[in-house]
Amino acid sequence: MKILIIEDTITSATVVCNWLTNMGLSALHAKTGEEGLEVFRRERPDLVLLDIIMPGIDGFEVARCIRRFEKHHGWWTPIIFLTARADENDLQCAIDAGGDDYLIKPVSEVVLKAKIHAMRRMAHMRDSLRKTQDKLRKANEQLQRLSAIDSLTGIANRRRFDTTLLHEWRRCSRSALPLSLLVIDVDLFKLFNDHYGHQMGDECLKIVAHTLQERTRRLDDLVARYGGEEFAVILPETDPEGALAVAEDMRVGIAALRVDHAWSTVAPVVTVSIGVASIIPPKDSEAGIPALIKAADDALYHAKESGRNQVKQVKGVIRVVGPGVGFNRRLVSKRG
Ligand code: GH3
Ligand code: MG
Ligand code: MG
Ligand code: MG
Repeated sequence: MKILIIEDTITSATVVCNWLTNMGLSALHAKTGEEGLEVFRRERPDLVLLDIIMPGIDGFEVARCIRRFEKHHGWWTPIIFLTARADENDLQCAIDAGGDDYLIKPVSEVVLKAKIHAMRRMAHMRDSLRKTQDKLRKANEQLQRLSAIDSLTGIANRRRFDTTLLHEWRRCSRSALPLSLLVIDVDLFKLFNDHYGHQMGDECLKIVAHTLQERTRRLDDLVARYGGEEFAVILPETDPEGALAVAEDMRVGIAALRVDHAWSTVAPVVTVSIGVASIIPPKDSEAGIPALIKAADDALYHAKESGRNQVKQVKGVIRVVGPGVGFNRRLVSKRG
């Protein structure tokens, strides 16, 4: 334990330093407030014994400086004031300045030892509190990360999808740029499970998720597991042409995996159908988010109806009609 004594009276400082050394503690002595602050910053002592009346800056000011400095760094060091007389006003000032306790000079060795012991206990408690807080913060961060991840596939989950879509909706609305959404569904996946078993089904979903993720092009693109064998991709600042290109690339990418799907009537391998919709989110219109999802969903339904393994898109950028959000429902398809 390192103790800094800031005291201009050499004789009294020397006595205290000797006691501290005899207690097996390491004592540092500074003769002025300025020097004390410098040593404090350099040495980071565990406790400060602080005289009040000194040439230059006084003890109150030194305590205030220490507290300001510590606040910035998130530290706390006990400060015990050394006062010549038990003046109540001095005492009040000492505590207000950031002191934790005081000793009346001449200091008694027994009282000094007792106070150091008590302060040590407090510092120890504070340390363990800080460690617990650190652990708690880390656990919280981990929890936050986990609560945003789908446990089967390791990609973003529905929750993360919801928060990201809201965030990107607002961002694109501010910059008046198009926001695109893909809804992706594995074709005839029930038959896949029926034929190969649920475990193989799970493995298939993992590969599909991974492949979709690989096919994103920008850092802000987000692939999420929307639920079951459905995935959703958020493409901020992406126009309909760009979104269609990404969707088509993903569709082709999944088929190219050549994962056997013997019972599929679409292809001998696992395929996906994709619905695409794009919108320039109008200002203050977050209520339009479900409508965007529904538009992409409708396009997906259309892709399924048209034979699966294909991309259908709500044509153009969704336009706003009246106070709400309306959609141009003409659909275009793209098939590989
Ligand atoms: P469609 O082409 O019309 O989408 O046909 P489908 O069979 O894929 O659609 P349906 O909604 O009838 O079936 C989806 C199936 O996906 C049902 C369920 O068994 C399977 N599924 C959903 N979630 C999981 C999962 O986490 N693991 C596995 N193995 N299967 C899942
Ligand atoms: Mg003095
Ligand atoms: Mg489905
Ligand atoms: Mg399906």
